[in-house]
Amino acid sequence: MALEKVADGVWLLRGDFRGAMNIYFLEDGDGVVQFDAGTKGMRKKAKAAAEELGGLKRVVLGHAHADHRGTAPYLDVPVLCHPDEKADAESDAAIAPYMDLSQLPVAWVRWLYPFLLRRWDGGTVRIADTVIEGDEVAGFKVLHFPGHAPGLIGLWRESDRVALVSDTTYFVDSLKFKPVDWANVPNRVFNQDHDRAIESLRKLAALEPRIVAAGHSEPMSGEPAEMRMLLEQAANRG
Ligand SMILES: [Zn+2]
Repeated sequence: MALEKVADGVWLLRGDFRGAMNIYFLEDGDGVVQFDAGTKGMRKKAKAAAEELGGLKRVVLGHAHADHRGTAPYLDVPVLCHPDEKADAESDAAIAPYMDLSQLPVAWVRWLYPFLLRRWDGGTVRIADTVIEGDEVAGFKVLHFPGHAPGLIGLWRESDRVALVSDTTYFVDSLKFKPVDWANVPNRVFNQDHDRAIESLRKLAALEPRIVAAGHSEPMSGEPAEMRMLLEQAANRG
């Protein structure tokens, strides 16, 4: 099982389309908590990874988009998310109501995304409980980063400045499906509120993280002041 260690007690499973979908496993006592749920196609690998790490206790969704909730219905553990994300997590729609895919600037990308989102999706997720900013998950603090999705959350561990941020920022170019070595605000066609997404990115920058592990592509790390600048530049570009 190709699990990558991101930080103390934090493991990354990459899968599906170009290996760009991320699921994180966080040590929690004798088992693990899964943060984000990737795509439906990752369900067997996610199950095996959790077993290798001592067994899955629960799943916490960073947000409920199809490529972040895909394995959740198949893992037989309680699934949690932010209260503002519950309705979309429990909906059977693979495409969130606010996504405006018709605004994608490139024709083949405009055609491809609806197909991909439906293929990635695992369907309705029953939410057992909710978490809000300030709650604790496996030694991390929950932070609310709304904008890309209304109930998007990240997890922050100040002791080693590790931030798991789901789609608060993109380390990929979502129109070219390619990793980049800078940070982006998620493309506005996918966002519930683009201005709020920019604000949330500034909130993340102000934490001065050392490691930022996002929902797609490899985690980025650097000196906290450099990471702050990288994220602020993304927010400034908008
Ligand atoms: Zn998303």
